[in-house]
Amino acid sequence: MTGKRPVVVIVGAGFGGLRAARALRAAPVDVVLVDRHNYHLFQPLLYQVATAGLEPEQIARPIRAILRRQRNFEYRLSEVTGVNLPKRRLETSSGPLAYDYLILAIGGETNFFGLTGIERHGFGLKDVPDALRIRHAVLRNFEEAMLESDAQRRRAYLTFVVVGGGPTGVEMAGSLAELIRLVLARDYPRLNLNDTRVLLLEAGDRLLTAMPARLGAAAADKLWRKHVEVRFGASVADFDGEQVRLQSGEVVPAWTLIWAAGVQAAAVGVGLDKLQTGRLRRIVVEPTLQVPGHPEVFVIGDAAYLEHNGQPLPMMAPVAIQQARIAAANVGHLLAGRPLALFRYRDPGSLATIGRNAAVAYVGRIQVKGFVAWVVWLVIHLIQLIGFRNKLVVLLSWAWDYFFYDRGARLITPRQEERGRGKEGVA
Ligand SMILES: Cc1cc2nc3c(=O)[nH]c(=O)nc-3n(C[C@H](O)[C@H](O)[C@H](O)COP(=O)(O)OP(=O)(O)OC[C@H]3O[C@@H](n4cnc5c(N)ncnc54)[C@H](O)[C@@H]3O)c2cc1C
Repeated sequence: MTGKRPVVVIVGAGFGGLRAARALRAAPVDVVLVDRHNYHLFQPLLYQVATAGLEPEQIARPIRAILRRQRNFEYRLSEVTGVNLPKRRLETSSGPLAYDYLILAIGGETNFFGLTGIERHGFGLKDVPDALRIRHAVLRNFEEAMLESDAQRRRAYLTFVVVGGGPTGVEMAGSLAELIRLVLARDYPRLNLNDTRVLLLEAGDRLLTAMPARLGAAAADKLWRKHVEVRFGASVADFDGEQVRLQSGEVVPAWTLIWAAGVQAAAVGVGLDKLQTGRLRRIVVEPTLQVPGHPEVFVIGDAAYLEHNGQPLPMMAPVAIQQARIAAANVGHLLAGRPLALFRYRDPGSLATIGRNAAVAYVGRIQVKGFVAWVVWLVIHLIQLIGFRNKLVVLLSWAWDYFFYDRGARLITPRQEERGRGKEGVA
């Protein structure tokens, strides 16, 4: 770093922030990447950590390792708590940080829609601690069930409710059902499989609404065949840690509720809260990805609100990656006094896996399901994982589990603050 060149601060080393940092590697700027974690996380495989298929290290990689060859790059492990837009300065847990250009790529967080019982007792799935909490809860519930003499309570331990029929809910429910039927059933020979239940509750009338209806129906059918009870028109009203209450009045006794029904932009710090926001708290940006009135500030990815064909852009990795390239290019254009590029989204399609040999995918007009879609899913996720070591370890892990019907990450190792249920930390 020269200390004389313009400083571009990027907040967030997720899909968007990391790509923006890389895209600026040859630009005449110094890049400072700030994240509260020291790793880049591949969120699409988090559900496999939650269902004992992979360890967190296999789907994450240290930021310093990824960008160690980039000479104009510096990383700071800090939490950003606010932005002083007029003074061009960030407030962070490690002190103030000045910028000439700012790229905010802070991503999203679980949206519980104000359902406090669910937030308190249920599990979101957004980061590594969430996934580990789910894994520990599932495995611990099986142990508790083995010790429980009351049949009703035993069934509640073994009932797992997944809420939300989007890709995360579908993948989570399918993987959980396979973990139970293919792996845990052998670990617990005294277990009566009829006592176990996985429910996927969807408030609407179909799964995977971002995909063609035919693929949503195929996913529901496949889940039923994997013993997942798929329910439509099922809105969850409350969860007290022992019972899930639906808006219809129905009560499902269950100790575990996994909330995959909503995300919103990450909480904006002091200073950003005055900016105009769209749906789900996302910060409104121009087609150049600049914040109106602040041409030196760009917002990308889940945190940005921009419409495409009259609809908000989806909160998905390809949007963040494509926007990162435009934001980085526009920093260069500003420096050179050139006209700025406008963001246009190219939808690469969508994929969701339901378990072994089963997935649904669409790319353009092509729709595929079953084994072919599953292979496409495997290949694309392996390619996108960052780091050769991770790709190799995940491939080996998948191959082992596929041929031996195994899930290697079945240790219950909660940290002290994770003990208890949900986020309560009750011992
Ligand atoms: C379980 C799950 C499965 C998913 N599956 C898919 C999928 O299959 N396909 C797909 O396209 N998309 C998927 N997504 C969505 C995709 O992961 C997001 O759209 C994408 O990560 C958004 O990228 P981003 O750069 O905006 O934010 P993120 O990748 O979320 O990165 C945000 C970064 O900002 C950091 N950060 C946030 N706030 C602060 C702060 N105040 N201070 C410091 N650092 C901060 C965070 O630590 C994080 O590293 C999935 C998401 C989840 C949760």
